[in-house]
Amino acid sequence: MSNALRATLLSLFGSLAPGCASPGPPAPTSAPDAPADLVITAGVVRTMDPGRPRAEAVAVRGERIVFVGSAADAKAFVGPETRVEELPGRAIVPGLVDGHAHLYGLGVALETLSVRGVRSAEAAAALVADSAKGRPSGEWITGRGWDQNLWPGAAFPTHAPLDAAAPEHPVALRRVDGHALWANAAAMRAAGVGRGTQDPAGGRILRDAAGEPTGVFVDNAMGLVEAKIPADPPAVRERRILRAAEAALSSGLTAVHEMGIDDETASVYRALAAAGRLPIRVYAYLAGDGHLEGLKARAPDVDPTGTALFVLRGVKLFADGALGSRGAALLEPYADEPSTSGLLLMDREALARAARLVADAGFQLAVHAIGDRANRAVLDAFEALGPGRAAALRFRVEHAQILSPDDLPRFSALGVIASMQPTHATSDMPWAPARLGPRRLEGAYAWRSLLSSGARLVFGSDFPVEDPSPLLGLYAAVTRQDLSGQPPGGWMPGERLDLDEALLAFTAAPAYAAFAEGQRGRIAPGYVADLTVLGRDLSPDRSLVGTPIDMVVVGGRVARAPAPAPAPR
Ligand SMILES: [Zn+2]
Repeated sequence: MSNALRATLLSLFGSLAPGCASPGPPAPTSAPDAPADLVITAGVVRTMDPGRPRAEAVAVRGERIVFVGSAADAKAFVGPETRVEELPGRAIVPGLVDGHAHLYGLGVALETLSVRGVRSAEAAAALVADSAKGRPSGEWITGRGWDQNLWPGAAFPTHAPLDAAAPEHPVALRRVDGHALWANAAAMRAAGVGRGTQDPAGGRILRDAAGEPTGVFVDNAMGLVEAKIPADPPAVRERRILRAAEAALSSGLTAVHEMGIDDETASVYRALAAAGRLPIRVYAYLAGDGHLEGLKARAPDVDPTGTALFVLRGVKLFADGALGSRGAALLEPYADEPSTSGLLLMDREALARAARLVADAGFQLAVHAIGDRANRAVLDAFEALGPGRAAALRFRVEHAQILSPDDLPRFSALGVIASMQPTHATSDMPWAPARLGPRRLEGAYAWRSLLSSGARLVFGSDFPVEDPSPLLGLYAAVTRQDLSGQPPGGWMPGERLDLDEALLAFTAAPAYAAFAEGQRGRIAPGYVADLTVLGRDLSPDRSLVGTPIDMVVVGGRVARAPAPAPAPR
């Protein structure tokens, strides 16, 4: 075990002795007092428990692990009712967690129609007709991606093909660049748009010779239609959550940290969890500063047993934008555009005030900060709360992407969680050096430097911005290469992690960030039985990417069953 890993385990669990984790699971069980509900044997169990890093079998009773050890000893836990899974060659790891994701956003993305790349207005309309089939009449169909420059004649479309495709559904499709909206007659009726409607400032309604709107709305005119798209009803939200949760499960995830939702979505999650219908765990943050004033009137959820399916205990804010669009707030100008250094979305006073309101209400604050100026502003706001406060509430910086060398040690010193996304580094590496120049790259995507400084590192994907698969994140974390293996040796290879360190950031570290250390994130007796079973053992190379997800167990329940053994030939 590396020193950095040992230090990380100590900071996550307080002790390396098994069974001493705080707040502490029930005492380890070695002799069965009753048969288990589920016994899984595999090629290897990677427990992330320093007292027993490797095993062959796990036994589960109810929601918890009751035994970890050899396949032979596990047999004592098999009774007449026990489900036994013998999975030779497979690897069991603690349930993989995405520490920064948008599960509801994935559900929206899965249902948002893409008409990108279609070669005619009629072809786009045909996709709309398909999408209308499964939906109740009157439900809005929204989508994006059309580009009339790819079509014969390159003229803007009219509402007619969309009327024919979906007469009963209002349709609103954004152009590929987001600067024009194509609507059908039902959408224009719903929006009350007609010949008499004036063009708004900064916008234009395209019209025919008689002055009737043709169905295309440019820039600020898009709002005339989009403002009338109703808030999604609970049934639609529920459908999106369940679809996205299935996608997350099939990627091997047992839990996600849901980075910013509204109260309506939260109540749908809550109802699904109460009914036992939420297939994975969701640890959620309220989106935006609109909630700050009202926080003191509400209480964060607590989950002392670590078994809740839905917990809302945090607030998510944005300190700046993204590096790709030069919205990230930098201390010095962009190397490739010296006229700008990006923008703070919340100034220092607003951040300090927000941190105080969230802390006083007992919630956990997570702030998006990409640029070094944004990261410094957020750390300053956390520090201003007073000694130990941000650490006690486990405040987090989301992305922590570009750090001044002066600020890097402050994560550890303040006890602030660095919530990072390994695939962001490999997605950004083609153009990030141009934005930042060589000197600032030293503190960019600096996983190893943060870990060595004693910071707690939580990993996620930021799906649907990136693919949900945690295996892609593990691969990026240990190689710093893209999927074709570039660059050789990895981008800034000194910041690579080893496999156990990366696995920790997808398991025990997000458990800590969710106040569930000692309950989840480790395969040990007394811990909650959240398990991911992979088709083969992990090795720190390209083979990670194709590793099949064989089985997923959430709270002792088999959420995804192993694939049937191949038929003998
Ligand atoms: Zn995000």
